[in-house]
Amino acid sequence: MSAHNDDCLFCRLIRGEIPSAVVYENEQVYAFLDINPVSRGHVLIVPRDHAETLFDMRPGADAALLDAMRKVGRAVMLATGAEGLNVVQNNYKAAGQEVPHVHWHLIPRHAGDGHSPWPHGNYADTEEMGAVAAAIKSAL
Ligand code: 5GP
Ligand code: ZN
Repeated sequence: MSAHNDDCLFCRLIRGEIPSAVVYENEQVYAFLDINPVSRGHVLIVPRDHAETLFDMRPGADAALLDAMRKVGRAVMLATGAEGLNVVQNNYKAAGQEVPHVHWHLIPRHAGDGHSPWPHGNYADTEEMGAVAAAIKSAL
């Protein structure tokens, strides 16, 4: 029996209390169409166990999710004729997370579709870059 949260939209959807266009499910994972797709065939894939973000998940669930992402991602590309696939995962509101049940977006992409994410910036110099890398390493 998976841990669920009665107030959580995706837990309710996994339990069938809210309808969804399911594309794949197994004991650990549930995958369904995003109701407001970035592109046709945009899938959300979620662990059945309720966890708010990536950082709240039980480590043991990772392998099953990655396997399911490859399986469903391949099928999404074949079914939509996509030439590429973005896998996107948002944690916390500041990063755009709207539904607090961890999920991965599988977004089919076509050349020239204009959906390319995020403008890239740059570091002032290698010293600044080194300082940022050092801060991350010391936080590990
Ligand atoms: P987030 O912004 O949290 O990373 O993504 C949440 C996604 O869930 C959004 O892309 C949104 O369109 C989708 N979504 C929200 N409510 C529902 C719903 O009731 N059913 C389905 N299938 N998708 C939903
Ligand atoms: Zn949930």
